[in-house]
Amino acid sequence: MYQAMDNRYETMTYNRSGRSGLKLPAISLGLWHNFGGIDVHENGRAMVRSAFNLGIAHFDLANNYGPPPGSAEETFGRLLREDFRPYRDEMIVSTKAGYYMWPGPYGEWGSKKYLVSSLDQSLKRMGLEYVDIFYHHRPDPDTPLEETMAALDLIVRQGKALYVGLSNYNPEQTREASQILKRLGTPAVIHQPNYSMMNRWIEEGLQDVLAEEGIGSIVFSPLEKGILTDRYLNGIAKDSRAAGPSVFLRPEDLNEERIAKVRQLNDLAAERGQKLSQMALAWVLRGGKVTSALIGASKVSQIEDAVGALSSPSFTAEELSKIDEILG
Ligand code: NDP
Repeated sequence: MYQAMDNRYETMTYNRSGRSGLKLPAISLGLWHNFGGIDVHENGRAMVRSAFNLGIAHFDLANNYGPPPGSAEETFGRLLREDFRPYRDEMIVSTKAGYYMWPGPYGEWGSKKYLVSSLDQSLKRMGLEYVDIFYHHRPDPDTPLEETMAALDLIVRQGKALYVGLSNYNPEQTREASQILKRLGTPAVIHQPNYSMMNRWIEEGLQDVLAEEGIGSIVFSPLEKGILTDRYLNGIAKDSRAAGPSVFLRPEDLNEERIAKVRQLNDLAAERGQKLSQMALAWVLRGGKVTSALIGASKVSQIEDAVGALSSPSFTAEELSKIDEILG
């Protein structure tokens, strides 16, 4: 029987999400890769256990995570049953709907039909009565935003989610969605965008909208799917994401020019006395605008590295401009 460590809340920082009552750990764990039906269950189990022991109380899922789609939620449901039943009230579990999940007109995008059916399926797979956060995963160009937001509001009123969030919405879509949700009485508490040293789009408008609307942010792929680590400094290891079946990171994404920049960043991290992955996480969390950095992991040691980032030295102005200069 798993027993969580008594000191699990001692080192983690918890940040308030926007102007909501919800606090999230500065580091959260996503189950997009490495928790599917094709993966080794005991490895996923060890990662979720050690994350929880380190104060990472937030686990992020989506209907389609796997492969096959749905299987990451099944894995997580099994872990809840095996290990975490006594700890449900100490966890924030999120899921999403928006991308393709099943055939026909009701299996993707943003209709009320799809969102309600998809969340019902997710709850079954995880064996939960409710999730803590339910997201619309991507904007739908065809469904009226009022319908999608009304579906999120309905889901909260039905008790199937406590809070709602938006993912991959641009600044204008975010403002509009937020205002509809406020009128309905179910304000958005969080936005989940991509953000890393190599992908800074949220600095151009989205962060201002989030501050104005009082919405927090949890940023995905802060390690640029593994590129902003020491993973690829000496070629493509067999057990890495780029060598595996994922179509989201291919060997051609790791060209010499890119790796040369990563090498310079790695040297800078070493001068700061830390690993590149830790510098990359400290960088997204600098300045306090981001609520949580949402990492992925394939091994327990990567989760330990991530938590180590929270004791990073703060950045000097010179270091920040050196990073800008390296990444051009
Ligand atoms: P990251 O950028 O954190 O990449 C994680 C990968 O980086 C790991 O799987 C591992 O790769 C490598 N890595 C992590 N730590 C280390 C380390 N210390 N040393 C060396 N390599 C390391 O995030 P992800 O791309 O995995 O995304 C994180 C989460 O964000 C997802 O699980 C999901 O919850 C969410 N997400 C949301 C999206 C959305 O549209 N809302 C889209 C994408 C992600 P390896 O496997 O090679 O070891």
